[in-house]
Parts: sequence; C-alpha cells; structure tokens
Amino acid sequence: MNTSLLTFAKGGVHPNESKTLTEHLAIELMPLPEQVEIPLLQHFGAPGKPLVNKKDRVQEGDLIGRVENGLGANIHASVTGHVSNIGFSSSPVALQIPSITITRDPDAQNKTYTPQDWKGLTRQDLLQKVKEAGIVGIGGAGFPTHVKLSPPPNAKIDTLILNGAECEPYLTTDHRVMLEQPEEIIAGTKILLRILGIEQAYIGIEANKKDAVEILKKTVQNQKENGFRIQINPLKVKYPQGSEKQLIESVTGRKVPGFGLPFDIGVIVQNVGTAKAVYDAVVLNKPLYEKVITISGKGINRPANLQVRIGTRLNDIVQYLGGARPDLAKIIMGGPMMGFAVSSLDLPVTKTVSGVLFLTQDEIDTEPHGPCIRCGWCLEACPMGLAPNEIGLYVEAGRAAETAPLGPLECFECGCCAYVCPAKRPLVQLIRLAKLKAKK
Ligand code: SF4
Ligand code: SF4
Repeated sequence: MNTSLLTFAKGGVHPNESKTLTEHLAIELMPLPEQVEIPLLQHFGAPGKPLVNKKDRVQEGDLIGRVENGLGANIHASVTGHVSNIGFSSSPVALQIPSITITRDPDAQNKTYTPQDWKGLTRQDLLQKVKEAGIVGIGGAGFPTHVKLSPPPNAKIDTLILNGAECEPYLTTDHRVMLEQPEEIIAGTKILLRILGIEQAYIGIEANKKDAVEILKKTVQNQKENGFRIQINPLKVKYPQGSEKQLIESVTGRKVPGFGLPFDIGVIVQNVGTAKAVYDAVVLNKPLYEKVITISGKGINRPANLQVRIGTRLNDIVQYLGGARPDLAKIIMGGPMMGFAVSSLDLPVTKTVSGVLFLTQDEIDTEPHGPCIRCGWCLEACPMGLAPNEIGLYVEAGRAAETAPLGPLECFECGCCAYVCPAKRPLVQLIRLAKLKAKK
C-alpha cells in the first residue's frame, strides 16, 4: 500500500468496504413513480411553508415550499402533476415532517434544460441561483449551500475542498457521479471558486477509487483555465476520511479548533455531488429535485445506483429493483456507520439520502452488548480524541449531565468507537443522550 497517501492523524478504522455489489454499475434512471411525497424539511433549519394548495397543478421544477425566516432551503416539485395531499411524512428519526404529495400526470413530458454560459454572471448572481435551486449539502446534514458559501466577512477563505472520499461502506453514489459526470463536477467546482472569490480547490478521493482519481485529473487538465487551480488528492482508505474536520486535516494539514468551523481556518468543504448540483443550478437553471442514490446489500434482489426524483418512496424503489429477499433483516437509510435503521418502506427519498441498504442477517451484528471491559480500543479509534467509554458509563449511571467536561458535543457520531468495541456497547446511542443533556 502507498503509505504516502494523505490522511488524518488521530483514530479512525477500516471497516469492510462492501462496495463491490454496486461500484461497477452505471447510474440507472429510475422510471418516474406515480406519486412523490416531498418533505418540507430536507435541510438543516426550519421546515418550509407550502406555496401550493391541494388540487393545484404543478410542473416539474416549480417552487412549492420556502423557508421565510431563518435557515433553510427551497423545495421544488420533482414531477409534473397535481397536489393530491398536504400532510405529513415519516422520517428515519421517527419525526412527522410536513410534506406535499404530488400525483404525477402520466402524459406530461420531462422538462428539458439548455446549458447557458455562466462566466458573465457576478458572484451575487451565482449565489442567488444556488439559493433559488434549494441546494443543500448532499449526503450530509443538509446544511443550505448558499449559507455555507456566505462565510462571515472577517473569515479569510483561501481553500475549497470537495469531498469525494465516500468512506462509508456500501455507498458508491459519489464514485459513480465522479466517473460519469466529471465535466459537470469540475465546472461546478469553478463556479464555487468564483462565488468564494478564490482560486484553489482540492478534491479529496479515497485511493480505492483510482478510476475516479484518474478521470477527474484528466478533466481538470482538459478544462484548464487561468484563475482556477484544482488539484485531485488521493486519500488513504480510512474511515471517517470524508468527515469535514478529518478531510481538512488530511488535505491541508490544518486543524479546525474545538467547537470551531472550517471557515475559522480559511476552508469551505462541499461534497462532489453538491458541485454537480451547483452546475445544474447555474448552467442549466435546474433546481435540485433529483439525485443519485446507492441501493445495496444482499437483501435486495437487484442492487443499483439509481437516479431518482426527490420524494420517491422506498416502496417504489424496492418494487422497481425486483423486491426484497426473504432473508432481509435490516434496512438502513445512509451508510452502515452513520445511517439510521428504518422500519417502513413508506419513507420518501430526500436531498440528503445517499443510499439505502437492505442487509441480511450475515451482514449485521446482532450480538447483545456486555459491560465495558476497559480495553481502551474506543479511545484509540475516536478521531476526535474523546473518551466514549467514560461518557457511556456516566450516561448508563444516570449521570449524563456530568459528561459535559468530556466533550460529547464534539462527537459527530461517526461510530468508530462502537465499531471496535469488543463488548458491542451502544456507544453512539449513549453519547447521543449525553449530547442532549449537554445541549440543555
Ligand atoms: S462516535 Fe463520537 S465518540 Fe465515537 S468515535 Fe466517533 S466521534 Fe468519537
Ligand atoms: S471499546 Fe468497549 S469495552 Fe473497550 S473500553 Fe471502550 S467501551 Fe469499554
């Protein structure tokens, strides 16, 4: 193995990658479902207000929800049809989210978009297009992209990092988008650089995606132009290489201070899929209403990388892929390290979903957990240098409020500690409880 690959210093693990089921499958366009259920909260912030009424006719790409005050992102119709319900959707974290259901008009034609030159637009124009398109961090917590691209005036931003690490096992969405849409990603990167008023971008990609590294290097070379310096950085295969703070350290050697944000050290991080969405918004005037997701695991008949409309229900996806296998044991929205187990196929795909895993018994760990044996493995694995064992013991003893000095709020729930724990302790769940207390 090439030991000179970039990486972060502290902690991390190397779970089984499990990407072979889908990494070589080209992105497939899923036929439009009869209905979509579009949640008005698919972003970090407040839910949007519906701008349509029941029975209204809507076109693909129409604005149907908007956050009027505070943090949020626009929501658009993902199919043409009529509004058949304004109600609530279930979500992986068991919350009821206000949502708009659209029943598709089977005779409607797909909308087409013509590329337009963006070079004459001002930074403000570009930012406005990103805002109008409702773009959020794809594959993450859904932080509105236009807000992330507007750091405080005193922040001295000099570096953009695009996250193409895709370090979660099973997921191959970013990998396929990098392979199949490299021109759009590099053009989107230039637009992001122009908005930020800087020249330097790095694209960090785990070294297990050599083909993506090569194709993006070639694309950068082909699209070379003054005013943009874009470098592709292969990264050591180590989870959680794609986490924001770890990625910044791997690529630049800079460390985000405790409770700080990347802009404190001059960096903005975006996902490669977000760069593609920015390209769509600016060059095509196309809002974010469809995305690529990985459907994988031995529990689904036909694993795939699917391009789906936002609001497509898991049920429709499972039907399209030939159904679930009889030995399906668990469904996870997201990756196995940071995703959420779900119990219903009624859930819709949102802007932040990167994949859905259908796992069989032999792909999951069902052993009961035991007491902490103080092996210290979780301390070694934690990339934030926390003491997950200590925090967990306090929470179990009903003393969660006393964990604040142990820094649970620095935990970003990567799951490394639970992954290595020989006693199978539910460390992430215990730390979540400590975080709730600490926030109070
Ligand atoms: S889940 Fe939290 S405590 Fe556990 S390893 Fe990750 S950051 Fe550390
Ligand atoms: S890894 Fe598990 S058993 Fe070992 S110290 Fe941490 S919590 Fe305890």
